[in-house]
Amino acid sequence: MSFQNARFVLSAAAKTGYPPTELPEVVLAGRSNVGKSSFINALCQQKHLAYVGKRPGKTRLINFYEIPQILSLVDAPGYGYAKRSRTELAAYGQLMEDYFRLRPISGVLLIVDSRHGLMPDDEDMLTFIREKQLKVLIVATKSDKLTQSERMKTLAQLQQRFGHEVILFSAQRPQEVKRMQDRLLEFIAESKNNPA
Ligand code: GDP
Repeated sequence: MSFQNARFVLSAAAKTGYPPTELPEVVLAGRSNVGKSSFINALCQQKHLAYVGKRPGKTRLINFYEIPQILSLVDAPGYGYAKRSRTELAAYGQLMEDYFRLRPISGVLLIVDSRHGLMPDDEDMLTFIREKQLKVLIVATKSDKLTQSERMKTLAQLQQRFGHEVILFSAQRPQEVKRMQDRLLEFIAESKNNPA
């Protein structure tokens, strides 16, 4: 059982397209371009499992990955892309509502850029996650772009303000990737023993 055995399962455009589920499911939520694909690739130690650098907002699908015997990792479409029409926003809202209503979700990783913290639409997402009473970890990515003192400040500020655990993450730093893998395993175990 290893993160390296991860595989892409399918992309779903609507609730009819979800794969069968048995493993604990963890969702990655975050703004477009925040680093979700890089997070998946780094976590699973594969270069091209998720597609990095896609045009912001062009991915409107829910992507399902499986890490055999460990978890189902789900990449929700990135939000916060300014040029979406009202119709597209409504479709996005429906896609997310259906997904969160219909799947047995163990927890959510809210992925934010460590340099910017939570933007207003991340705060909206956090409210949505709290309403669903789901466990949440905030992952502050691209941490390699912070100085040591900025790291401490970012952690303290985010934790204090939002009251959730915050993990600094860099897809470029193996020790942070390893720490994230370990934390994720604990996170799943905690949600099995103590569902939110
Ligand atoms: P997504 O749209 O959320 O899937 O974001 P991507 O994974 O495609 O990343 C967006 C951009 O941020 C790409 O240019 C990545 O190379 C860059 N990026 C992602 N994660 C990191 C990181 O940990 N460190 C740095 N320096 N760049 C990152």
